[in-house]
Amino acid sequence: MLDIQKIRADFPILSQHVNGKPLVYFDNGATSQTPKVVIDSIVDYYSRYNANIHRGVHTLSQIATDAYEQARTKLQHHFNAKHNYEIIFTSGTTEGINLVANGFASILKKDDEIIVSALEHHSNIVPWQMLCEHTGAILKVIPMNYDGELLMDVYVKMLSPKTKLVFCNHISNALGTINPVEFIIEKAHEVGAAVLIDGAQAVPHLKPDVQKLNCDFYVASAHKMCGPTGVGILYGKEEWLRKLPPYKGGGEMIATVTFEKTTYADLPHKFEAGTPNICGGIAFGVAVDYMNGIGFDAIAKQEQELLEYGTKRLQELENIEIYGTKDLSKKASVISFNIKGIHPYDIGTIIDKLGIAVRTGHHCAQPIMDFYQIPGTIRASFAFYNTKEEIDIFVEAVKKAQMMLS
Ligand SMILES: *Cc1c(COP(=O)(O)O)cnc(C)c1O
Repeated sequence: MLDIQKIRADFPILSQHVNGKPLVYFDNGATSQTPKVVIDSIVDYYSRYNANIHRGVHTLSQIATDAYEQARTKLQHHFNAKHNYEIIFTSGTTEGINLVANGFASILKKDDEIIVSALEHHSNIVPWQMLCEHTGAILKVIPMNYDGELLMDVYVKMLSPKTKLVFCNHISNALGTINPVEFIIEKAHEVGAAVLIDGAQAVPHLKPDVQKLNCDFYVASAHKMCGPTGVGILYGKEEWLRKLPPYKGGGEMIATVTFEKTTYADLPHKFEAGTPNICGGIAFGVAVDYMNGIGFDAIAKQEQELLEYGTKRLQELENIEIYGTKDLSKKASVISFNIKGIHPYDIGTIIDKLGIAVRTGHHCAQPIMDFYQIPGTIRASFAFYNTKEEIDIFVEAVKKAQMMLS
């Protein structure tokens, strides 16, 4: 069992009052909170060894370079990549997806097909639409059912030798569905298509093994797993990273430059133009250590308990509709719901006055909301540092809002 009170003491932000009430932070799907060790690592970087990396011969630059590259190796081990140069530092999930989409612009031909899932975040839809516009490739969508599950029988029929790429999130941010990514990857490979998995919503809950998954690309953001904003990773299989052209031109990504011809640096630097988020990358490594210190088995157990308890308590409410699968073992600790006849935004506004942070709206997944024909949902997303007592406060607050609004 986790000692939740001890863990909560690691997060300075959690002990504050918001609008005069103790903060109940249930917006972890949008961004997680930051433990003191991660905050300290940022302060330490700027206090002791802030310097540009890979360039200087001076001591501070070498210390910073070592710390940054050690963070890369830490991430390699965390995701179980074969080589550390298969881990590319990005500014986050969105940039990782754009990097791959941009690379495929030179590979795809007219009438090639790419497949996305109906459960995608906008950041995993728009870059592909832009890519299709640019190349003449065709975008196809794996449909979902009312329980928020992707229809695998339809997916299998959509695949053909024309399929070049498949994109799917590991866990849906809007509904919490854990998608059958192993199956999706295996079937895509049977027709020779590459697969990118958007792990932004999975990394706070589980430890992905990219070699076991056998995905071609995996993207994630640090800020959803106790790290800072503005940094993330793209994992890519070596053969793919060698095939794709660089995404951004600039310093750091070159081997030689003349006005006639530039040759690119080797992996991973080929994809890392310009001064990166050095301190962010280092702090990302600290966040990964912190989460592994708690342990992903313990995290999953605590979150599953919160999910079951939260679902049970919310079901006490009249006129509540919870979206997504009813099989809670196929779901991350996210509850997306509405109270019939009340706009989600109104509930969000009232419970904010009571110190509770949830997300209301379409969660950057407009197509899912269109599917259910709703403007949005209220999404409570739990982290391992949340408690059942907070769920009680939250449920009472929603009840109060419901009374005021109906
Ligand atoms: C948050 C999220 C993203 C975008 O991540 P950024 O850090 O904003 O780039 C993409 N996909 C999913 C599933 C997400 O939850």
